Amino acid sequence: MSTKRDYYEVLGVQKNATADEIKSQYRKLALKFHPDRNKSHDAAEHFKEVSEAYAVLSDTEKRKLYDSYGHSGVDGRYSTEDIFQGSKVNFEDIFGSGFESIFENLFGGGGRGFRFGGFDFGFGGERGADLVYDTEITLEDVLRGKQEEIDLPGEIECGDCKGTGATPGTSMRTCSVCNGYGQVRTSRSSGFSTFVTVQPCNTCKGHGKIIERPCSKCKGSGKQKGTRHFSFEIPSGIESGEYRIKGQGESKSSGISGDLIVRIQVKPHGKFKRDGADLFYDENISMIDATLGKKLVVPTLEGTEKIDVEAGSQPNTIIKLRGKGLPHQGSRSRGDQYVRLVVNIPKKIDKHQRKLLEELQDRLKEE
Ligand SMILES: [Zn+2]
Ligand SMILES: [Zn+2]
Repeated sequence: MSTKRDYYEVLGVQKNATADEIKSQYRKLALKFHPDRNKSHDAAEHFKEVSEAYAVLSDTEKRKLYDSYGHSGVDGRYSTEDIFQGSKVNFEDIFGSGFESIFENLFGGGGRGFRFGGFDFGFGGERGADLVYDTEITLEDVLRGKQEEIDLPGEIECGDCKGTGATPGTSMRTCSVCNGYGQVRTSRSSGFSTFVTVQPCNTCKGHGKIIERPCSKCKGSGKQKGTRHFSFEIPSGIESGEYRIKGQGESKSSGISGDLIVRIQVKPHGKFKRDGADLFYDENISMIDATLGKKLVVPTLEGTEKIDVEAGSQPNTIIKLRGKGLPHQGSRSRGDQYVRLVVNIPKKIDKHQRKLLEELQDRLKEE
């Protein structure tokens, strides 16, 4: 068993740090280590470590316990779940609304484990595997958003026992060890303090009920292999990358499911190049049009747009179509489309054209 590091050391603050100092230091570290942003292999461990340290030190009572008795003072009195649940009110405050998507379902999950910032703090239960789903989308999908419908390998209710895990017609009895709660509390006194530990009941494996005759098809699990349909919205404005949908991976009887990792690749477009929410488009015009000016119709992602090429336009002039780009992620506002005028100089001209140009040249010299 590894020794836990000192919480103050983990956050890099002094023992007498104020609540504000602790909060700002945690924000910094949590953003640094959050695995949605940090791809190094030990980011998850660091994230858990700083989050636990923050959960304890941001709570006056827990911090007092920790200051007086160290790790054993806190661990003896609170389960891991209690440590985090007690601080949940602070997290929105810490990350602000901009981080809602990363931290959504912070405390969802339930069962015997719980989730925090995309991590399972289970009570020894096995976590389901992550599933990976690859998809390619077009720039038009990025403009409008896209509904994805997928089938995932998963567990469905056992058809024989209808999910109860018991042979049809037989009964289940309430576990007498935990009285059906699925958890066992043990308390132990030490000096002036009483430490309460909550653990899953061993006898019923946390289910609260005992199956007398397990269903032969599913061996008492109540589940069988199957596919499950899942649909989700790819939001407009999204960039290529990996996105995590919490709890939609493989499910486990521990109640701790893995995540679904969606790898999105935005396909290159035949006409437009993308930079964030802005689109870039090259329009070829002749040197005559650049000189004389012209009304043009250029494509946009949604249709077409009229533009005026002014007389005397220079090569690489950029014309901005305001609001014709892609939506900014998580916002209604849109980027712009930039039309670059590429002036084509003729590579071959015939005798007659040459004569005309030379005449023009002479005229320009006279001016
Ligand atoms: Zn029990
Ligand atoms: Zn069954």
